[in-house]
Amino acid sequence: MPDLRARVLDQVDALRDEMVSFLVELLRVPTVNPPGDHYEDCAQLIGKRLEEQGFEVEYHAAEGRPEHTATHPRINVVGARRGEGNGPVVHINGHFDVVPAGEGWTVDPFGGEIRDNRIYGRGSCDMKGGLAAGIFAYEALRRAGARLAGTVEISGTVDEESGGFAGVAWLAEHGRIAKGRTDHVIIPEPLNVDRICIGHRGVYWFEILTKGRIAHGCMPFLGVSAIDHMGAILEAMRLELQPVLAARTTEMPVVPEGARHSTLNVNALVGGQPAAGIQSPCVADRCRAIFDRRFLIEEGFEAAKAEIVELLEQTAGRIPDLEYELDDLMIVHPVQAPAGSPLVASLKHSISEVLHTEPDIVASPGTYDHKHFARIAGVEDCVAYGPGILDLAHQPDEYCDLDDLVNSTKVMALTTLDLAGTV
Ligand SMILES: [Zn+2]
Repeated sequence: MPDLRARVLDQVDALRDEMVSFLVELLRVPTVNPPGDHYEDCAQLIGKRLEEQGFEVEYHAAEGRPEHTATHPRINVVGARRGEGNGPVVHINGHFDVVPAGEGWTVDPFGGEIRDNRIYGRGSCDMKGGLAAGIFAYEALRRAGARLAGTVEISGTVDEESGGFAGVAWLAEHGRIAKGRTDHVIIPEPLNVDRICIGHRGVYWFEILTKGRIAHGCMPFLGVSAIDHMGAILEAMRLELQPVLAARTTEMPVVPEGARHSTLNVNALVGGQPAAGIQSPCVADRCRAIFDRRFLIEEGFEAAKAEIVELLEQTAGRIPDLEYELDDLMIVHPVQAPAGSPLVASLKHSISEVLHTEPDIVASPGTYDHKHFARIAGVEDCVAYGPGILDLAHQPDEYCDLDDLVNSTKVMALTTLDLAGTV
């Protein structure tokens, strides 16, 4: 139906100013996480817009989650526009929480300022821009008179930046997003307008505590230094484990290139007395460190953890008094859209139609809500595709290019049309 496709693209162009003013409104609600400010205002703003577009709108408060409090309620919004036939359900999901503005801005981070064809503000790139694009992709279909066979759902969810447990995970745990109910999911995270992101590596956050014995600092040989022992563990990681990890490469197309390998980062290290306090001569009897291990889909979590346990055992075997505890803090399994995904095929086609370029297929260096769709809801046909530039996420003077915004809206509109089908 070539003339319908052309009408849809024309409607996106015609909607440009309306979409930009809606995005300005979104950016002016400072949904900063932590702590999770103004979520209800933002959910209402999205819900009202979806109602105007003919969606049935539901609000889901994350009852039962400890972070859902009276001062910082966790409110998600889900809109559904029923199809006229028996087509599949296409779900577009965006998180509307943003990280704190931080220092170094030259514009108001919550002003929605437009300059040189760019819209500036915290969340413009990650990912209120993508959310606006998803909402207006449907609006363009509606105004073009498309009669869709399948249902279109659009959700605005909370807390992605802190793990998404009161957001997408909550909706999945409560059956609002589920295999059999949800067929294809587009998450317009900022992975660049000409790239399709099919998944991400796994995450294993863990804590190691070394335990020593306190003694007078003038006779350290009478005690056991937990800091020295943590040092031995860190050294073993650097000299023995890091080279092994760096030599492993995944088949997944993770960007940037350096993230195609296994990695390990030390997030935090605390031992002995607080450095800012008054010092007394003591051997440190406690040292604690937090680690961020990113593992490959080919490795799997069990093997990644076993390797850490083995390194700790070997180090303890070499140093007689070394005592440690290992605690798991967070485990995220790797996810990847299946080969032959209809969503990926359609996005590829739409991107070449709109941008006249062959899209790159990539995987994300970090995780996003894809994990909850795949792991909790069991919805496998999920990708990230959106207008923002990956490198600008969480930076000062974050912006979204307005042409990218419009182009990604066109891509999402055509892909929704392909997947939902017409009656
Ligand atoms: Zn994001």
